[in-house]
Amino acid sequence: MSETIQPKATIVIFGATGDLANRKLYPSIYRLYKSGKLDENFSVIGLARRGWNNDIIREKVEKSIQGLIPEDEDVSEFISHFYYKSFDVTSTDSYKDLKYMVESLEQDYHTDGNRLFYLAMAPDFFGTIANQLKNHGLKETSGWTRLVIEKPFGHDLASAKKLNKELQAAFDENQIYRIDHYLGKEMVQNIEVIRFANGIFEHLWNNRFINNIQVTSSETLGVEERAHYYDTSGATRDMIQNHMLQMVALLAMEPPINLSTEEIRSEKIKVLRALRTIKEEKVSEYFVRGQYGAGKINGQEVIGYQDEAEELKDSATETFVAGKLVIDNYRWAGVPFYIRTGKRMKEKSTKIVVEFKDIPMNLYYKKDDLRNPNLLVINIQPNEGITLHLNAKKTGNGNLTEPIQLAYHQDSESGINTPEAYEKLLYDSMLGDATNFTHWDEVALSWEFVDRILASWSNKKADFPNYESGSMGPKAANELLERDGFHWWPE
Ligand code: NAP
Repeated sequence: MSETIQPKATIVIFGATGDLANRKLYPSIYRLYKSGKLDENFSVIGLARRGWNNDIIREKVEKSIQGLIPEDEDVSEFISHFYYKSFDVTSTDSYKDLKYMVESLEQDYHTDGNRLFYLAMAPDFFGTIANQLKNHGLKETSGWTRLVIEKPFGHDLASAKKLNKELQAAFDENQIYRIDHYLGKEMVQNIEVIRFANGIFEHLWNNRFINNIQVTSSETLGVEERAHYYDTSGATRDMIQNHMLQMVALLAMEPPINLSTEEIRSEKIKVLRALRTIKEEKVSEYFVRGQYGAGKINGQEVIGYQDEAEELKDSATETFVAGKLVIDNYRWAGVPFYIRTGKRMKEKSTKIVVEFKDIPMNLYYKKDDLRNPNLLVINIQPNEGITLHLNAKKTGNGNLTEPIQLAYHQDSESGINTPEAYEKLLYDSMLGDATNFTHWDEVALSWEFVDRILASWSNKKADFPNYESGSMGPKAANELLERDGFHWWPE
């Protein structure tokens, strides 16, 4: 068995009092520690304006991992690695003290000068922080320095370019780790393995054998407390520009010549470059937007988007998007990729469905036959696994067929919860493996694609709300596929 690598590092979290740090980062660090991926050679410095101290952050960290600690476990050693400094990122004075603090903890914890700066804060601050880190010599170290940044990366291509310029003035591209937490999910990482480790799929993975590919990410939740942020973003910026296009790139890319970060990224980038440009006046033929109205989720009445907060009255922000992507290359000519995402939908689920073409002459086309096309379903969440839909003979006399499913459930197979996406991404960033982070070129191409759709919508009034909470989105999303002779799976 290969030995677990235990990276040594000082992890500096900007935004240590915030929701992301509390819900994702602290539990992830704990899980890495518990699984032996972090040993004693690490410390965490939490930064935010609030007047916390070391005792308070340790208390908060302990609270944030409550659900993960066995009853009789003493976590005092673990939480002793956490330190806090009250810090305003816009004040230059703060960084001088930070440098001193980092250097002193590096000596205490023998972290070889390795520094991970995690920006769990609003993106408006990213440029300032990156620059201050550089200007105050926090990048000057005998070890490595990496900058992990959260989404959203810009609001459109222009703002993303501006942000990128600011970051690249301080850090090299290979030091910047842009988080797309979908890329940390076990089954998203499994897409490559399913494709490239199985002849039965990869040989068929093209326009000769595949009818269409569908990617759905649906939520039952509404906008919750994020009304203000969400209304300036919408489903296209929140989900399509990043997570959905990333999944499409992994599904459509050519086999890389090896599994290095550069090769995989380069293949993904080619897919994004091959995405057919949709002219503004043609957007309605390819994309459908929606916004939820009132309805029922799991038997409970829920209100519509515009009633969720005063500021959402008459909002034209989309909470649902469905689209047809066309990838203009040899492999995918003629195979539509349909994507769909939304809030307040019937179920919480992220899944990929690959619909295979029928055989040239099917002998089992009788009227009463229950026959389905062969489908490969990759369940990303909540039930991780793969299901292959086949047809088999119906037990008994005659030649009737019935659909059957071969299912592999990731959770039950491994017997443990799959690692949180953040845990894996944190570990990867400390190992220097950027494969599951987005390169600037991917970000830029995705924005370029999405901007055109948004521009077209901004010029036309939306007829919102146009889908009921608890449904699978507006009718037009079904018509998008019906026009091509397909439908969403499952119906
Ligand atoms: P949040 O709860 O609002 O936290 C923001 C943090 O920034 C707080 O710790 C706040 O602490 C700190 N802060 C604000 N202004 C500051 C300043 N001038 N100097 C120093 N610290 C300052 O936000 P969040 O939900 O954790 O999100 C953080 C980032 O992650 C955002 O980019 C968000 O889009 C992204 N993200 C979050 C989630 C999630 O699940 N939460 C998921 C995906 C992406 P003080 O008020 O104490 O200063």
